[in-house]
Amino acid sequence: MKPSAELLRSYARLAIQTGVNLQKGQSLIINSPIEGAEFVHYLVEEAYLAGGENIQVEWGDEIVARLRYEKEPMHVLESFPDWRVQKMNEHVENGGAVLSVYAQNPELLKGIDPKRPAAASKAAGEALEKYRSYMMNDRVQWSIVSIPTEGWVKKVFPDLDVEAGVAKLWDEIFKIVRVDGGDPIAAWKEHNETLRKAREVLNKKQYQKLVYKAPGTDLEIELIENHIWHGGSAVAETGAEFNPNIPTEEVFTMPYRDGVNGTVRSTKPLNYHGNLIHNFSLTFKDGKVVDFEAEEGYETLEQLLNTDEGSRFLGEVALVPHTSPVSQSNVIFYNTLFDENASCHLALGEAYPTNVEGGSKMSKDELKAAGVNTSINHEDFMIGSAELDIDGVTKDGKVEPIFRKGNWAIDLG
Ligand code: ZN
Ligand code: ZN
Repeated sequence: MKPSAELLRSYARLAIQTGVNLQKGQSLIINSPIEGAEFVHYLVEEAYLAGGENIQVEWGDEIVARLRYEKEPMHVLESFPDWRVQKMNEHVENGGAVLSVYAQNPELLKGIDPKRPAAASKAAGEALEKYRSYMMNDRVQWSIVSIPTEGWVKKVFPDLDVEAGVAKLWDEIFKIVRVDGGDPIAAWKEHNETLRKAREVLNKKQYQKLVYKAPGTDLEIELIENHIWHGGSAVAETGAEFNPNIPTEEVFTMPYRDGVNGTVRSTKPLNYHGNLIHNFSLTFKDGKVVDFEAEEGYETLEQLLNTDEGSRFLGEVALVPHTSPVSQSNVIFYNTLFDENASCHLALGEAYPTNVEGGSKMSKDELKAAGVNTSINHEDFMIGSAELDIDGVTKDGKVEPIFRKGNWAIDLG
């Protein structure tokens, strides 16, 4: 069954009011697959109801995308048109917000040489550096939500027929994003408060490093000096409080670029540009990935790691309790927005400058000098499980348990 109009509208209102928190007179770009048209109609209506102006929708289509990766000559994939860069830069420079409806068939690009999508994403990443910096630094409000699409559903629930699978995925999503017929906006206020408390406890601690132990994992991550833990809502330069991800269950901060040593094993598959990387491990020395293996998607992982220099270093460390609603659903979503919120994770590539004091005012060179990783990639991968223990080591060498068996072990107040 299709979800009721009431639930769809309630979800759309949550995305507009709690997600991007669109302000009166503010413009908005909505990115969405064409399959999301019905939901997008609600989003656009809610955006106008919130007082938004100049609401634009950018439609994507998976079949067209696949054909492009298959057929376009390499020189086209390796370039990115200036007019698109200008359009997107102009939107954020004028204070416009961005809302992305993210849903992708995790196997969309199966069989395509990973060099081709990697080239296209590198070109786009480089061309859109300025645009991306507006999101990475919270200069404007941005948010990501998700809806079921057929190709995605088939991967998540292969034993169900598509219609039943779509209905089931809607159910799971509504539960996870706290849209259940009650007042989701109030539920998110409370949830944001919980995450605020967790990040405040960790901000006070200022651990010098974190030590991870789990099967296949023995890893030390030094945190950057004056790091800031974020989680839940953020405040944009526009002054508006917003939620970059719906759902979100994480608190996260920044590793010191050259301070990661040991081996970490993934616990969930990573969907990278339509290709899956599964059961992989990475070995770090002084921050850099010096060795890696993967049972599935080795070449895709190699492409990811070789995108640029920063792709071999970490940019994010995030804590998510194993009891999170996403984890409790026991579904592997093959979609980072969900899977990352089921599990402690790390990210290869770019760090969020807002995770270090003064970071959003630093130039690229200053960030580098301070030990902040920069890259055109930012790829979360999941390492949490019911077997993960994490200790925090204080500046004077005291070892304190942060996570035991996948859940919080320090007092969060
Ligand atoms: Zn994260
Ligand atoms: Zn991330």
